[in-house]
Amino acid sequence: MKKPPRIFCIANQKGGVGKTTTTVNLAAGLAQVGQRVLVVDLDPQGNATMGSGVDKRALPLTVYDVLLESSTIAEVRQRSPKGGYDVLGANRELAGAEVELVELDHRERRLKRALEAVADDYDFVLIDCPPSLSLLTLNGLCSAHGVVVPMQCEYFALEGLSDLVNTIKQVHANLNPELQIIGLLRVMFDPRVTLQQQVSEQLKAHFGSKVFNTVIPRNVRLAEAPSYGQPGVVFDPSSKGAQAFVEFAREMVQRLGPPSS
Ligand code: ADP
Ligand code: MG
Repeated sequence: MKKPPRIFCIANQKGGVGKTTTTVNLAAGLAQVGQRVLVVDLDPQGNATMGSGVDKRALPLTVYDVLLESSTIAEVRQRSPKGGYDVLGANRELAGAEVELVELDHRERRLKRALEAVADDYDFVLIDCPPSLSLLTLNGLCSAHGVVVPMQCEYFALEGLSDLVNTIKQVHANLNPELQIIGLLRVMFDPRVTLQQQVSEQLKAHFGSKVFNTVIPRNVRLAEAPSYGQPGVVFDPSSKGAQAFVEFAREMVQRLGPPSS
């Protein structure tokens, strides 16, 4: 019997903290070690879609159609041409789903149900969440086994984390008992900045082993890659940023241990 995929949300209610960069690079890193990966873009900005080399403006169907149950994932998914993984794309249309879903039954479990139909096709599903704790993010959290939280080591970083941690606790208690925080990933890190070092130490003191050992440095090649429709690990494998994400993919797999059957 096939093992079910491991499903992770990449979440942080702040924008611009590296969620999408983490999602597409982790996906490509896992694909490079032979894993079958689906990226779900749950952000109407569609950055994970574009950054995977799939044109969000040309999509006949998107994750919106999946959430409204007018299409299946098998009908909507596209292949990232360079990434080596599948993408459930998003564009502006998804912004409307937030409102339309409120009226519907099992509104927070729609993604979960849709994913069950493609469980045999993947080893990993990575869900790129929007910068909010909205119904879209809730669909992600209800589908997932774990949450990966990318964060910059800045002054208000810890403060913002408590809202996210509380939301995860509530979802765990009420909607999805499987959900846990897999880890916090320090991204865009610059060790020369004293404040970043200090926040990093605070993070470790507070969250202990929940902080991933791998640190993603600030690296311009990671920022350039999306405009070529490629994850950084594919665009420039020798860059410091790419190497860090490959290391992170390895740490994730190690941390998870053998998959439950
Ligand atoms: P989010 O999805 O949380 O909004 P993004 O992943 O889109 O964040 O990142 C925000 C911006 O920072 C993007 O322009 C991205 O290319 C850039 N960026 C992300 N990670 C890095 C990094 N490690 N080094 C340099 N730039 C980065
Ligand atoms: Mg994003």
